[in-house]
Amino acid sequence: MGERLAGNSGDGAFGNGTRCACPLVEGTAKVQTRLFIEGEFVDALHGATMPVFNPFNNSQICEVSSAQAEDIDRAVEAARRAFSEWKRVDAAERGELLLKLAVAIEQNAEELALLESRDTGHPLRDARNLDVPRTARCFRYFGGMADKLEGFLPPVYPGFLNYVQREPIGIVGQIVPWNFPLMFTSWKLAPALAAGNCVVMKPAELTPLSSLRIAELINEAGFPPGVVNILPGFGSTAGVRLAEHPDIGKVSFTGSTETGRNIVRMSAGNLKKLQLELGGKGANIVFDDADIDKAVKGSASAIFHNQGQACIAGSRLILHEAITDEFLEKFIPLAESIRLGDPLDPLTEMGPLTSKAHQERVIDYCKIAVEEGGEILTGGKVPDHPALANGCFVEPTVVRARPTDRACQEEVFGPFVSVMTFASAEEALTIANDVSYGLGSGIWTSDLQRAHRVAGELHAGMVWINAYKIVHPGSPFGGVGQSGYGREMGFEVMREYTQPKSVWVNVDANIPDFYQRPAT
Ligand code: NAD
Repeated sequence: MGERLAGNSGDGAFGNGTRCACPLVEGTAKVQTRLFIEGEFVDALHGATMPVFNPFNNSQICEVSSAQAEDIDRAVEAARRAFSEWKRVDAAERGELLLKLAVAIEQNAEELALLESRDTGHPLRDARNLDVPRTARCFRYFGGMADKLEGFLPPVYPGFLNYVQREPIGIVGQIVPWNFPLMFTSWKLAPALAAGNCVVMKPAELTPLSSLRIAELINEAGFPPGVVNILPGFGSTAGVRLAEHPDIGKVSFTGSTETGRNIVRMSAGNLKKLQLELGGKGANIVFDDADIDKAVKGSASAIFHNQGQACIAGSRLILHEAITDEFLEKFIPLAESIRLGDPLDPLTEMGPLTSKAHQERVIDYCKIAVEEGGEILTGGKVPDHPALANGCFVEPTVVRARPTDRACQEEVFGPFVSVMTFASAEEALTIANDVSYGLGSGIWTSDLQRAHRVAGELHAGMVWINAYKIVHPGSPFGGVGQSGYGREMGFEVMREYTQPKSVWVNVDANIPDFYQRPAT
């Protein structure tokens, strides 16, 4: 996907005007296509744009402004101006604005769901039932949190009062991936704003539309100009500038481990605080005493929801050898029965992957698995149905492979699950922990003691017992190892978006006189 300058847009593309002239999807309003800086929608420097595609048929939806380094600088300046006032705003008032935004999202729920579905390929029913409600809930949760961030009083020397207050960092850069663009916009914006920061956010180049709609709702909710700036653009230009910008105090990034590493290097100039939510290779362990029917359904949604494009996906199915046959006899037909189709069709259970390049990457992994001696139990290819031929589809794929194979070690980020077997809990743990990632993991068992013991031993930031992929704004979300560091959500993320200031007060202290000298 290349960058275009204004006047060079392809036939049929919407111009880079104020709003797209036509509805993107029947039933949706028009959408903004320009950079959101200081409360206004503006062109990028030299009118640079980039195309946005519909992954269901690879047609171009529209062109969106593509932020250049100078545009990021402009947004940082705007954020800096806004911060001088924003940091003095009553925390309860900040919370009110977030609550208003949550209401605005609910009032525009159907439009947001349609937009997200068309831009990403998420099935509309998921966008309606999960993405949009979770987005509103996240803004509401942190709206309530804004005036509840407490400092503390450490007990120190007699005669001194020491209080520690948490202060916003200032200007925060946020880099959002393409797999859950709407929801991740809320995960990043809500706590940063609740804590009193100003934000410059870059949505992913593949999926900028829902965040631009959120930008409009931010204006409607009444946020002061410059507190939030949203600039679609490429990682190599806008993303790099955010990572290295000397006036940005923190970057929150979600995406690949490789880009996360680059951001660590680029952020060194001003020693930015970083929060990195990177890849995963989730271990999903099914013991022989598990409720098999529940485990089968839970494991299927753990990997196939959102076409497997989730960092926490249960992409490694680790089955007790005694139940492997029974499990697969149920799991494979379920995978084969998943309804692929137009994401806007309410009956569709699995849409296309979000881009052609990513579809090719996932298909490459199917080939690699076979070359390494793995066995494709189902799927492993592009569906041959003519209605799906132009989209970025991959069949739900189940592969039997060895724990050391690339299929079991590397993040595929698609509807691709690797199956392995074990004989003992120790072996299951060895397999589960033998990857560089450590994000989400699942355990299916009816033995309570074993469940907690294994949860304690798993190298992971999150563990689900007899469930998978449950998230809530109150519970810390993040990983260990190559899955990154720092946490989204809950009180943990409020710590990430603030810094402590320790203030010492001499109330009645007898301070030794260091310069007391013998009388001469
Ligand atoms: P990516 O890491 O390149 O992109 C994610 C975000 O980072 C995008 O907004 C992108 O523009 C930005 N970015 C890219 N290069 C940058 C740079 N040098 N500096 C600053 N920002 C930069 O991910 P991708 O190429 O879109 O996907 C590749 C793989 O990453 C996927 O197949 C998957 O394995 C993984 N991934 C993980 C997540 C997740 O939720 N953890 C999300 C997306 C992708």
